[in-house]
This record gives sequence, structure tokens and C-alpha cells, in this order.
Amino acid sequence: MFSAMPKNAPRIAIVVPCYNEQEVLPMSNKTLSDLLSDMITGGLISDNSYILYVDDGSRDNTWRIIESIIAGNSHAEGIKLAANAGHQNALIAGLETAADHCDAAISIDADLQDDILAIPRMVEKFREGYEIVYGVRNSRESDSWFKRESAQGFYRIMRHLGVKSVYNHADFRLMSAAALKDFLQYDERNMFIRGIIPGLGRTQTSVYYDRKPRTAGESKYPLKKMINFAVDGITSFSVRPVRMVFFFGIGFLLVALGIFIYVMTRYFEGETIEGWTSLMLSIWFCTGVILMSLGVIGEYIGKIYTEVKHRPRYSIEKSTITQRKK
Ligand code: UDP
Ligand code: MG
Repeated sequence: MFSAMPKNAPRIAIVVPCYNEQEVLPMSNKTLSDLLSDMITGGLISDNSYILYVDDGSRDNTWRIIESIIAGNSHAEGIKLAANAGHQNALIAGLETAADHCDAAISIDADLQDDILAIPRMVEKFREGYEIVYGVRNSRESDSWFKRESAQGFYRIMRHLGVKSVYNHADFRLMSAAALKDFLQYDERNMFIRGIIPGLGRTQTSVYYDRKPRTAGESKYPLKKMINFAVDGITSFSVRPVRMVFFFGIGFLLVALGIFIYVMTRYFEGETIEGWTSLMLSIWFCTGVILMSLGVIGEYIGKIYTEVKHRPRYSIEKSTITQRKK
């Protein structure tokens, strides 16, 4: 299936974060395991490559399913987080664990909405010498109109705010062990992974694929989480919103100065100013702007607060990887 490559077959870890994924996991595991065996027999990856499932504190049977998968498959490993740490942290937990046990790690969501056939192409790029390979969606036709539009709006805002990120790329990517180690030095709590990777440098490239709808289970990213994710993404990278608040302030002072001059001239001309309505309007308007600005600043202070506390990002309750592999 795969042509012979110059470099030795690398040891690949496929990292899969799972939160309440009992509906899709058996199916996803079958698909991923078949792909892994194909790649091993094809000589594309080494025989000690494996899939690493990260149970992100699921409340359903996810961990039990992972355990039974591992019992019957020497190419599967698992770690269980003690509590739900969130998608990004679960991913970091998996990547950190895999970093010492692979040549390159590929992260993919448990619902396999991302085309797994991009995986062998990523490995080929890795063997050609690329250290970071992004999986990039050709289209978002399978997503709902709303999800598609909101996601694209988000990328656009990020770009305007000066955050480097790869358009239509989420967390489906390959990273070499060395790139992973670079990445793991970023110790911040508010981690927005896909904004950090492009700044790592090293040789980077992309492979393109079509994204499918979720086959079973439901999206763990309802609107509220998506908004939180977007706000986090923006505020972890860019201080421009705070700067904007400052310039807003200057603009308002100038307007106020203009009004003051106008009022004074009218006063000395002996005219009284009627205009209770405009006064009320401006009070409400300005209060709105002030509150909004305070909100923006508050968001950053909140960020500082979490960074200062420096709590652990996750805690691993169980891991099979050290027991079975060195
Ligand atoms: N996920 C996780 N922890 C969470 C939420 C989600 O590990 O707190 C995992 C989830 O199991 C899936 C991936 O993150 O593998 C992406 O979630 P989902 O498919 O629900 O997001 P969507 O594709 O709808 O953006
Ligand atoms: Mg999904």
C-alpha cells in the first residue's frame, strides 16, 4: 500500500482524547486499529507504534471500554485523567505522555470526524523531513451552517488580532517528538494549542482532507463552550482588545471636550441648552462603553489570576503506557 521510504519506519503514537465517548469509541477503535495495522504491514510505521486513548474524566463507560480495548490489542494504550480537564488539557496530557515514547505523535478527535486517511499522508510528510504536519479541512459542508460561519468568523477575528493560526485546522496534526518537547515547554494554564504551534518554527506543512459529520454521540462543544473557547483563544494571545479600550477612552474624551466647548460657547451667547434626552442618551451610552471596557480588562485579569495560581493542568489517575512499553 505504501511505497518504501528512505528513513527507518518511525514509531508513531496516535493520541485520542475521549470525553463520554462510549457510543463512538468501539467503532473508532476498530477503524484506527485497522489503519495502524495497515501502516505497520506496509512498512510505513514501526511495529511498536500505538494508539493512546486519554479518558478525560468521563462519567460514562469510556474508561471501561478503553481497558477492554487495551486488553485485546497490543497496539493500544490508555491514560485516565482523575477529573475532566477539558479537551485542550486532555490533549496535552496525551501528548506529554506520548512524547517520551514515540518519534512522532498524531492527535485526532475520538469521533473521527477528521479523515483518518490523512494520517498515512502525514507520516509520509514526516518521513520526508517535516516536523509539524497540519490536517486542514477542505470544506466544512458537514458542519451546521451556524458552526461553519461561527468558526470562520473566529479564524478571521484571530487573524485581525495578529494571532498566527492555520485556517481550517483544528487539533488534527502530527508533531515530531522534538517539536512536542518544544511545545511542552509552554507552561501556561490558558493553553490555546493551535495558536502556539505555528510559532514553534521548525519545518511545517499541511495535508488536506474532507471533514465528515459525527457518526454517534453528541458534540461536546455546545455554543457556550465554543464562545468560551474563542474568548480564551483571543485573550491568551492578543492584548489588542485592551489597547482598543484605551483608544476608545481617548476618542470619548475628545467627544466630551467638543461638547464642553460647544456648551460653553452657547452659554456665553446667552442661550440655555435644552436637551435632557441627549444627556440621558450619552450617560447610558458612556456607561455601556465603560462597562464593556471593564469587562475586557477583567477578562485579562482573570487570565492573570489563573496563571498566577499555576495549578496543575491535569492529574493522571491511571496509565498503561509505562507498564507495557519503555
Ligand atoms: N473532549 C475532551 N474533553 C472535553 C470535551 C471534549 O477530551 O471536556 C474530546 C472529545 O471526546 C472529542 C474531542 O475532544 O474527542 C472533540 O470534541 P467534539 O467532537 O465533541 O467537538 P466538535 O467536533 O463538535 O468540535
Ligand atoms: Mg467532533
